Amino acid sequence: MKLILLGAPGAGKGTVAKLLTKLDGSVQISTGDILRGAVAAGTELGKQAQAAMAAGDLVSDDLIMGIMGDRLKEDDCKAGYLLDGFPRTIPQAEALKVLLENMGEKLDFAVNISVPTEVILDRLTTRRTCEGCGEIYNVKSNPTKVEGVCDKCGGAVTQRADETEEAISNRLNVYNDQTAPLIGFYENEGMLLTVDATSSDAVIDAIKAKLG
Ligand code: ADP
Ligand code: ZN
Repeated sequence: MKLILLGAPGAGKGTVAKLLTKLDGSVQISTGDILRGAVAAGTELGKQAQAAMAAGDLVSDDLIMGIMGDRLKEDDCKAGYLLDGFPRTIPQAEALKVLLENMGEKLDFAVNISVPTEVILDRLTTRRTCEGCGEIYNVKSNPTKVEGVCDKCGGAVTQRADETEEAISNRLNVYNDQTAPLIGFYENEGMLLTVDATSSDAVIDAIKAKLG
């Protein structure tokens, strides 16, 4: 399958993507994970992205399209992919459309994971992420067995730099201004599935039903 996962920060795009990869070997492609990896490794890309990310702003469309142009040509994408956190602006969606046309590829559809704002706020402030493997935990609903240590890989589980109250509120504003318009974009393209999601299983079931 080739899907776009849309939704506010904290809607569960990453969790849903990870579950979907287990169904058919499709790969999760998270621009956030790629960027955090670059920041941690101190690469040129990381240096360019760091300040915008910490403030909860978007990094530039050019930078993102450069990353994704290469990433979508890698071999593992032949098995299908779940785009998690990309595209995030109308220019990125337009550029993706051209990129895929040139590659002779077609997406199945875009999934809009719709979650109430109160739920989002609560989730983001209690969310913790493994610095090693990207596994997501929650101090209330899904804690690690040992505090601060990843169950899966033993890496450090911490609060992301952009999960301060100020950065979270900025990320939600940025989402509403720049990313929410993609819902209309993909609706016009005739390729939108909206799921009101309280559980990731409900999202998975709706996606399976639409894929047939
Ligand atoms: P979220 O939980 O907000 O969905 P992500 O892990 O997807 O978080 O992204 C974290 C940060 O990385 C964003 O706030 C932004 O700074 C940057 N980023 C990730 N994907 C994109 C993108 N497609 N375009 C621009 N910036 C991005
Ligand atoms: Zn881990």
